[in-house]
Amino acid sequence: MTKKQKKTLIRIVSAALLTVIAALIPLDGIWKGLAFAVPYLVIGWDVLWSAARNIAHGQIFDEKFLMAVATLGAFAIREYPEAAAVMLFYQIGEWFQSIAVGKSRKSIAALMDIRPEYAVVLREGEELEVDPEEVEIGEIIVLKPGERIPLDGTVIEGAGSVDTSALTGESLPSDKTVGDTVLSGSINLSGVLKVKTSSAYGESTVARILELVENSSEKKARIENFITRFARWYTPIVVISAALLAVIPPLFFSKSWADWINRALIFLVVSCPCALVVSVPLSFFGGIGGASRDGILVKGANYLEMLSKADTVVFDKTGTLTQGSFAVDAVHPSEISAEELLDIAAAAECYSSHPIAESVVTAFAGDIDRSRIGEIKEIAGMGIEAQVDGKIFFLGNSKLMEKAGADWHECHLPGTAIHISEGNRYMGHIIINDQLKPEVRESFNKLKELGIKQTIMLTGDSEKVAKAVAEKIGVDSYRAELLPAQKVTAVEDLLGSGAHVAFVGDGINDAPVLSRADVGIAMGALGSDAAIESADIVIMDDRISRLPLAIKIAHRTMRIVHENIILALGVKFAILILSAFGLTNMWWAVFGDVGVLIVAVLNAMRCLIRVKE
Ligand code: ADP
Ligand code: MG
Repeated sequence: MTKKQKKTLIRIVSAALLTVIAALIPLDGIWKGLAFAVPYLVIGWDVLWSAARNIAHGQIFDEKFLMAVATLGAFAIREYPEAAAVMLFYQIGEWFQSIAVGKSRKSIAALMDIRPEYAVVLREGEELEVDPEEVEIGEIIVLKPGERIPLDGTVIEGAGSVDTSALTGESLPSDKTVGDTVLSGSINLSGVLKVKTSSAYGESTVARILELVENSSEKKARIENFITRFARWYTPIVVISAALLAVIPPLFFSKSWADWINRALIFLVVSCPCALVVSVPLSFFGGIGGASRDGILVKGANYLEMLSKADTVVFDKTGTLTQGSFAVDAVHPSEISAEELLDIAAAAECYSSHPIAESVVTAFAGDIDRSRIGEIKEIAGMGIEAQVDGKIFFLGNSKLMEKAGADWHECHLPGTAIHISEGNRYMGHIIINDQLKPEVRESFNKLKELGIKQTIMLTGDSEKVAKAVAEKIGVDSYRAELLPAQKVTAVEDLLGSGAHVAFVGDGINDAPVLSRADVGIAMGALGSDAAIESADIVIMDDRISRLPLAIKIAHRTMRIVHENIILALGVKFAILILSAFGLTNMWWAVFGDVGVLIVAVLNAMRCLIRVKE
């Protein structure tokens, strides 16, 4: 609780006691009114004051004004206890709301709990404890067991296991030794590690993630904007109806003025849209915060809303559905030896971050003399053009061979072929195979259960490989041999046909599609800056089962938002109608305002509960 919240609580308790005393002392008429005026002013003076100030500033229809008019009106018609009670409950509602909002604001970042407090840096042989922001790139930091890793870097001494669960939700620790990279925000579980930092704190994984999560409240869902617009109309309409209700019926019916004014005052109390205005963003806060605990980062409420509407999910293949770590199955040279072909391929691929390139370099295993390598061009969706030992080589798929004018031929083996040509002279091919990620099939079944109508796989790989993968995972349809631009067109066609499209990729050469789809979801984003930048929803680890989980969370959040809207509007309209016919009193109005607010806020807090996979 903040100081201000504590002070309000004290005021609430003392005003409540004073109200009880005022009710108990035996007084009559104007004296009774004065007795109730004491708790009324104790609890309500600031509301009256800011109502007066707002009128001076031309803001008439705010809730403070409504409360002021309603309670002063109640005094005028001698409903003293009601006047004090309305103000009291109004303040209870405000207090409750400030606690709930404050809590959830903090909670998204706190739930992730990844901010490092300090870094131990090695300077002139001494270990110094400093703020992570003071450590420069290339300095050596020391990590002891149990400490949170403050900065990204490479292990230069020691070995141990690292827990990334706060970033990814994945509880299995991974082993790190010399040469491995470690990411800030994870925890060193065992062993002392010396790490050479590779980024300043501001650019580190932990800082990027925290920034992303903290800014997520700025992008509002459509339904939130609707509520804001609605509130702007709702309040004046109810206030005008209240005025008409107080003035017109008494002219025609014989009932007393006091009775109609009382009904009108109830209108005023019920006319606060706070339950809506508070609980809807709170629900999104909760949904986004809850998802972050499972390593699913949502960049804004609008994306959660969009994901809940998705009926079509489009996947990239390599690195998204498959692991993206290829094993070399065969090397089929046409003119030179297999060793020479692999040697050229490894040299040509050694600067590329494409999963295929990384696998070839790994398969080669030897040292690559980088001075042999000249200019390198990546041709997205096709392969690579590289100068090695002064000669131009092309490495990639059949499309690239056509482009180079080489006389290529198919291989009888299953798998992705990397064809290699020197200029237009065909040199042979390397056959590599990728493996499906675990849980892919189950995840596709779950997507169907969640109401996804269509799943589609798009890939730049060959028809043969695409077909084999598609059959194994049970995707509804697939398209192969697409260039990145053709993937964008494929998604645009789907959007044009009225589908709500979520695209799932790995952030490597599919950034244009990620941003074109209704929601772009990047998988395995831990350590990949490109994916964190271009996606709307970021899945930190590699697990495809996070996707149905994210959709579930989106569905639940939207359900709770809709429940709150129906609850708040339903109760308010019911009370308005009953009040117009004189079937209610001020206590109903208090429930319609504060009661509904509290129920809606509690309901919104349900969004924070963890969803089972
Ligand atoms: P996907 O759609 O499966 O993610 P990409 O669009 O990244 O695939 O690549 C499409 C195809 O282009 C690959 O299957 C491969 O044949 C070829 N290719 C892309 N990059 C490279 C590379 N660095 N080396 C060799 N071939 C490549
Ligand atoms: Mg790809």
